Amino acid sequence: MDISVVIPLYNEEESLPELASWIERVMNANGFSYEIIFVNDGSTDRSMDVIHSLAEKNPSIHAISFSRNYGKSPALDRGFHRAQGDVVITMDADLQDSPDEIPELYRMIKEEGYDLVSGWKKKRYDPLSKTIPTKLFNATARRVSGIKNLHDFNCGLKAYRKDVVKHIEVYGDMHRYIPYLAKNAGYKKIGEKVVHHQARKYGHTKFGLDRFVNGYLDLGTLWFQSRFGIKPMHIFGLLGSLMFIIGLIAVFIVLVLKIIAMNSTSFNFYVTKSVYFYLSLTAMVLGVQFFCTGLVGELITRNSAERNNYLIAEEF
Ligand code: UDP
Ligand code: MG
Repeated sequence: MDISVVIPLYNEEESLPELASWIERVMNANGFSYEIIFVNDGSTDRSMDVIHSLAEKNPSIHAISFSRNYGKSPALDRGFHRAQGDVVITMDADLQDSPDEIPELYRMIKEEGYDLVSGWKKKRYDPLSKTIPTKLFNATARRVSGIKNLHDFNCGLKAYRKDVVKHIEVYGDMHRYIPYLAKNAGYKKIGEKVVHHQARKYGHTKFGLDRFVNGYLDLGTLWFQSRFGIKPMHIFGLLGSLMFIIGLIAVFIVLVLKIIAMNSTSFNFYVTKSVYFYLSLTAMVLGVQFFCTGLVGELITRNSAERNNYLIAEEF
């Protein structure tokens, strides 16, 4: 099979018939063998009925239906799990992404050898309240992830070599960082294609302003995971040791000052009034805590089922 199209959707009943027939048209015109996997993320409207009736007319249409709303990431993850095509394309269900981009995305994966090609909505039809924070967000994501050539991390329209989607786990709200996940898994050839974007025709956006807060928090998690995820002691141990040493120096200062004061008649020194005393207390306590956190982290990673999951590029 050439292509799997994975479409996460949450209450998109109006868009689905148009989307399905548009994809069919593009696939038939290019002679692709394909499947469409709708992942219904707990819709409460008639989306599932619509999908049933579409599937009756087209055997290439399949569905996975969640019992409740889990989020776009879990929907993508399950779609990826199911996908069988050589190239896997994801797109949003709201008709903001154009199926006309599919043939070129397919070609870039197949002929130019990309692992992942992300769409870039260079000209966006979204409100300013969304486009400006998005610019900021993408700039941060570029820096943190080190994927310098991507302008639009969170574009719903993306193409993957099948191998890639089988080796990444999209959980939480990590769909915003799939290129970063792919890079961390060992896939380096990540490209971009300018894609057409349209205003939402039906319904409304499913993400509020919290997307930006959560987006940044997730970026922090991913950064931490990729740098220290399997060696937490490297960061916590270092921080803990530094803190402890600072505390030790402060203790030493307190001791010396106290001894001097005890042997002198003119110089008074009260331990509990000294800034060094408080510094030594907090620094040593924090230091030990950091260190223990690192140790516990090490124990957890040593027991994680994924600790030895390395992507092997070639094997004889
Ligand atoms: N979506 C989903 N589960 C959710 C929220 C959204 O499957 O909890 C789907 C939604 O139906 C759409 C895609 O994810 O197909 C992108 O959502 P939306 O268009 O609301 O996001 P925006 O374009 O505003 O970023
Ligand atoms: Mg949308």
